[in-house]
Amino acid sequence: MANLSLKHIYKVYPNGVKAVNDFTMDIEDKEFIVFVGPSGCGKSTTLRMIAGLEDITAGELTIGDLVVNDMEPKDRDIAMVFQNYALYPHMTVYENIAFGLKLRKMPREEVNRRVLEAAEILGITDYLGRKPKEMSGGQRQRVSLGRAIVREPKVMLLDEPLSNLDAKLRTQMRTEIAKLHNKLGTTFIYVTHDQIEAMTMGTRIVVMKDGYVQQIDTPKNLYNYPGNKFVAGFIGTPQMNFFEGTLKKTGDNVEIAFKNTDSRVTVPYSYFYKTRPSYLNGKAEVIIGLRAEDLSLDRDEVEKSNAKIKVKISHKEELGNETLVYGDINMEGDGFGDSPTRVIIKSTAEVEYVPGDVVEAALNLDRVHLFDSKTEVSILPRVPEFNYLDCSVKGGVLSFLGQNLKLPSAIQCEDCTGELLIPTNAIKLGGTIAANVISSETVCGQKLLALELGGRRIYATTDQDVTEGFVNISIDMKRLTILKDDEEIVQPLPEIVSFDGSFKKIKVVDDVPETEEERAKRLAKKNASPEEEPVLTKRKKVVRFLLNIEGTDFPVSEEIAQKLITALTVKRVFDKAYRYECTPYDIKFADAGIEAECVGIADYGAEKFAKCKVGEKEIYVKLCDGAPEPAGKVYLAPEIEKLSIIQADMDIRLV
Ligand code: ADP
Repeated sequence: MANLSLKHIYKVYPNGVKAVNDFTMDIEDKEFIVFVGPSGCGKSTTLRMIAGLEDITAGELTIGDLVVNDMEPKDRDIAMVFQNYALYPHMTVYENIAFGLKLRKMPREEVNRRVLEAAEILGITDYLGRKPKEMSGGQRQRVSLGRAIVREPKVMLLDEPLSNLDAKLRTQMRTEIAKLHNKLGTTFIYVTHDQIEAMTMGTRIVVMKDGYVQQIDTPKNLYNYPGNKFVAGFIGTPQMNFFEGTLKKTGDNVEIAFKNTDSRVTVPYSYFYKTRPSYLNGKAEVIIGLRAEDLSLDRDEVEKSNAKIKVKISHKEELGNETLVYGDINMEGDGFGDSPTRVIIKSTAEVEYVPGDVVEAALNLDRVHLFDSKTEVSILPRVPEFNYLDCSVKGGVLSFLGQNLKLPSAIQCEDCTGELLIPTNAIKLGGTIAANVISSETVCGQKLLALELGGRRIYATTDQDVTEGFVNISIDMKRLTILKDDEEIVQPLPEIVSFDGSFKKIKVVDDVPETEEERAKRLAKKNASPEEEPVLTKRKKVVRFLLNIEGTDFPVSEEIAQKLITALTVKRVFDKAYRYECTPYDIKFADAGIEAECVGIADYGAEKFAKCKVGEKEIYVKLCDGAPEPAGKVYLAPEIEKLSIIQADMDIRLV
């Protein structure tokens, strides 16, 4: 039993294929995690890195409390079940299951106990004397599960274990594996390309595409709140309907227009509080997603609904308990091709449709999904990144939602009316602005508060417990953006500082303290106690590693250097370009370091930052409270231990 942590895991194969990018997740003890995605998306590679069958290019893998990157597979306390059962044909089922334990020289009675127990759990006790060829595919896969169970591993890894089985057996084994997970109370990680398998088995699912994690969530949340069009389309059968369209806000309503049709539906603007207003201008192209069950052909429902679209029926699929009705929302369309006007509607009504009939379908607007047409990211996110508000600035005072805030001197803004962007995590509890908490929900481990301010809803994320009612809030002014005519006239303080450089190895002659071993030998020879003998140093040629940051060398610990070296081959590691990133809080002024020019002070009231130029780069450095304000030539020293180190051309975060 164990929890696992994957931090910024990458895999680059020797042929240059970047199979896994920045995979980061924490897996709790006893979870049933499923990696799902189309073939080639990097699921098996990730699983194999956890198993230790594949080297980890960069990142850190922890099982229990141990970093296991360099640990042999056999020492990781995991067991793996593969698609092909790989049973020994000449051994009986009993011998197959017992084989691994015998190799480990486990006492006979213990082997016997474990094999019988596993056979009991898997319902194969009666077959223990048989050879694999005398068993069905399902039974053989049970034997291979048995072989994994008897190891009593901390983590069970399963790579498409059911894909060799026929459909009926798969469904049955799915239930059995879920039951097995409950019974064993072990962490399971399961790889499949089958979304139904993922949805029915996982406590949480990781959806992957092209080596990138798309979303990590519970089956229900993936279905109800897909973060992008890929996840929306991948999860659920039949696939979600996707239409092209535009959104136009007029007064308190938003009109959804479906492209290539004359269908329009009107929705209250309150649906769109989490959406950037620039999507609501009637021009920005969006993708409208509706699941087949969120459209209805039921006559009563259509009659009552004030959100309906016209559908020309083309054909249907009878599934017994329900009917899938196919059609087109473009009266010229045929409903057969996978076009942006084709529609599939789940219908239980016993209505006969004739191909070519034009009917109305009622939309369940509570469940409409909207995506940016280019990035395909949801524009109705569950946790919005920003609050988008109308604002005005006059004489250095920012007004929005009935609030008038004096802008700090760091924000210089002409008088204007514009759009204000407040990041949801820049609204903090405590302060002088009174707001009413309407709701608090936990989404993906963080609390999302809906607050009422000046008659509108705004959102804030917090890690504190908050009950409904009035709270005081404050806004982190350094994170605000103000737009006038779509142009940023106030930009937030950059949260990340980025430097360029390289990684170097040098040989130097240095005074090196004697090793523990040398010292022990010397003390023994002299018969001296450690207290009375000073530690001796010797002049020696030693290797030192340096980070060259913007032309200045900084010594780096052996530990960090080793991470860089093991990530890529030694030959390639030193001639690459690196990017170093940290926050403005992780840089100090020093007597020596990166040469910079301090060109101003950004004073946000509560905090001050020095604006420094390093070549063409603008870098902000947090000033300690009460410290003198620097000016002119300065030297910057980033805290090396806090740097993220990114191999620039392949964009791999090595540390
Ligand atoms: P999945 O399990 O999702 O089908 P994989 O993890 O097997 O995907 O593969 C991810 C990507 O890595 C694919 O593009 C695949 O071609 C590539 N790949 C897998 N194994 C190797 C290998 N040993 N050498 C080079 N490329 C590989």
